[in-house]
Amino acid sequence: MNGCDREELVLDMARAGRNDAELTAHIAVCDSCADVALVAGAVAADHVDALRNAPVPPSGLVWWRMQRRAADDAARDARRAVIAAQTLSFVAAIAIVVALLTTIGGVSIRALRDAVHLPTLVQWSLPLGLGLAVCVALAPVAIYFAVARD
Ligand SMILES: [Zn+2]
Repeated sequence: MNGCDREELVLDMARAGRNDAELTAHIAVCDSCADVALVAGAVAADHVDALRNAPVPPSGLVWWRMQRRAADDAARDARRAVIAAQTLSFVAAIAIVVALLTTIGGVSIRALRDAVHLPTLVQWSLPLGLGLAVCVALAPVAIYFAVARD
């Protein structure tokens, strides 16, 4: 479908609600621009009608909603900061324990690996696997509650 190169001007005129004599004369002779003017005029009229008839809530309700939203945003930001601090402290605690075991305690990585006794590992593999599966299954739920909006 070939359109007219003045359709954008007609659309801008309809959006702005102004009346240009030259474009109006062009619309009278150009079918494409006449269609654009008809549709854009209807949309603009509907927009103006919607603005005039929009229900405006009471100012007290708007103020209360803004206060509520600000409080919710602040609480969400605080929760994120706490979760980040807890995660960081957990990782730091693990690093400290590993560092203490390997340096001060004289335990090497090889000694830790040798300490894992194969029959013991087989005996505890089911409870460990179940515990790991529960953690993996609950991790998305914990993440959802940590970052979900109210
Ligand atoms: Zn035209």
